[in-house]
Amino acid sequence: MFKKNLEDLKAYNPGPSLEEIKQIYGLKRIVKLDSNENVYGASPNVRKAIASDVLLPELYPDCRDQALRLELAKRLGIEPEHFLFGTGLDEIIVLISRAFLSTGDNIIMAWPTFYEYYCHAQIEGATTKKIPCDQNGKHAINAMLDAIDASTKIIWICNPNNPTGTYLTATELDSFIQRVPSNVLIVLDEAYIDFVTAEDFPNGLKYLETKENVLVLRTFSKSYGLASFRIGYAVGSQRVIDEIDKVRPPFNNPRLSQVAALAALKDDQFKDECVRKNNEVIAMTTAFLDEKGIPYFNTQANFIFIKVDEPQKIAEFCRKNGFLINAFQTGVRITIGKKEDMKTLLNILDQAIKTFAPEPSK
Ligand SMILES: *Cc1c(COP(=O)(O)O)cnc(C)c1O
Repeated sequence: MFKKNLEDLKAYNPGPSLEEIKQIYGLKRIVKLDSNENVYGASPNVRKAIASDVLLPELYPDCRDQALRLELAKRLGIEPEHFLFGTGLDEIIVLISRAFLSTGDNIIMAWPTFYEYYCHAQIEGATTKKIPCDQNGKHAINAMLDAIDASTKIIWICNPNNPTGTYLTATELDSFIQRVPSNVLIVLDEAYIDFVTAEDFPNGLKYLETKENVLVLRTFSKSYGLASFRIGYAVGSQRVIDEIDKVRPPFNNPRLSQVAALAALKDDQFKDECVRKNNEVIAMTTAFLDEKGIPYFNTQANFIFIKVDEPQKIAEFCRKNGFLINAFQTGVRITIGKKEDMKTLLNILDQAIKTFAPEPSK
């Protein structure tokens, strides 16, 4: 009765709850820097908008997110019909996979990158070509191009990339997109675009003017601090958006999520302030790492990937000391916290590295 495609998959493991961790280690406070949530919270306007909104619990929400759609269309200079909203980008990734992938197809993605691309390809019966990032943590675009074959349906580009924080420049992405055949969907996941300060970073929306096969993803979970409301969106050509819309459950965005997202969107000042502080703390963090000779990838997001041996042990040590961070195969990913928290964490991390992995990994 079980589906063969799911054999190799495991359910998402959230780990112990914050309360459980506090109990296990006897901690009063835990700083959560493992999921790239906005450490500065959300715009105060969100709370006001929700409090003043009529709840209407018995009615289904607006199936088309009309108010939010029109505001985004105005701000981004894109036709309202070219948007599609989801219960977080997580759901958009599900819907794209559902709409485009069948058994025998394949997708191409970087490694490491956002795990959900792989997970949902697997569920749809498609295979995944994982192309290792280069030594600087960037997508290896030439190897990704070489991997395209007649069964390739989607190429996922996460820019900036989660978990490495690195990015493809406009020149690199331009030349990549020009070389991908028009029957392969290129998905640009720009979950972290608001944090970017690099001048040569490409805004994926520009490709929509000429390329029907490009789709851009954005979310309210990170820079806008609305992870709990689960709302994200795709922007693309009419052809592609209409196709994905066929598999979307009609009332997938709760009314309050739409209200919250609209209020957050209108408060540029709050978002800009988060981005400014994030940059300040990144500078402090990299100065510390440079001084200690701890290797890391340059980041354009609200997290940083630090290359260490024994990432599991190091994450565990940080957890015992009240900081949740994320362990990967070749290092740890840390959400850029508030300044004081980050200072404390960096010293704990330094101590952990000296204890468990005194030789910096190459
Ligand atoms: C966080 C994240 C998402 C999912 O965001 P939600 O909108 O909260 O579902 C998608 N892609 C990347 C790269 C992310 O880091």
